[in-house]
Amino acid sequence: MSKTKSAYQRIILKISGESFASEENLKPVCRQITDAHKLGVEIGVVVGGGNLIRGKLVTDIERNIADRTGLIATIINGLLLENALMKWSKLKHLSCLPISGIVEGYSREKALEYLKSNHILILSGGTGSPYFTTDTAAALRAAELGADSVIKGTKVDGIYSDDPKKNPGAIKYEKISYHQVLKQNLQVMDRTAFAFCQENRIPIIILDIFQVNNLKKLLAGKKIGSIVC
Ligand code: UDP
Repeated sequence: MSKTKSAYQRIILKISGESFASEENLKPVCRQITDAHKLGVEIGVVVGGGNLIRGKLVTDIERNIADRTGLIATIINGLLLENALMKWSKLKHLSCLPISGIVEGYSREKALEYLKSNHILILSGGTGSPYFTTDTAAALRAAELGADSVIKGTKVDGIYSDDPKKNPGAIKYEKISYHQVLKQNLQVMDRTAFAFCQENRIPIIILDIFQVNNLKKLLAGKKIGSIVC
């Protein structure tokens, strides 16, 4: 029997580095994570690092090294999230790049054990390899941990036919197929992550994570953001 009050049992929430850009940004994100947890939904949070470094945008450091610094940035953000959620006793942080005494190493078995024992799970260190992004890490973890979907928390409230800031006539899609996203060349996730979700039939939900209650409403069955399935 389901232990949650939600249609979702287990989710992977991807939050980008911009969530850590200010206290003002981090607060609503934390609130949404704890609200989801209160509903009884198992939640793994994959943290980005783009506020500190985005490997492919760095021009004066070799890509391999730049990406490794980006990976470390995700661990720093993971620790900041840990700090912000500290009062939440049921909390674990696993990283693909463990640091002795600082952050525990990721394994599927450990992650599942923590999720099933009702811990909020912070996942840092991306995929553990350069040349990838944390979007791909989120897609991988969703497949590996059997999540119902990947929820990408961004600052836009869904997928639009065009940039809504530039084109007031842009249409928002509540639901769209993987095929249509590719055909219209819509920016949802990075290509590798998107292809992986498509191949493994993992639904992707895009929502505005800075809008308090969005995640809670989605988990309660309301139509929030956009879903690719
Ligand atoms: N990164 C990497 N491999 C991964 C995940 C991340 O090399 O599996 C590096 C890469 O340089 C990336 C940076 O870490 O640009 C920060 O991650 P990301 O760009 O996904 O952060 P976000 O855009 O979500 O803030």
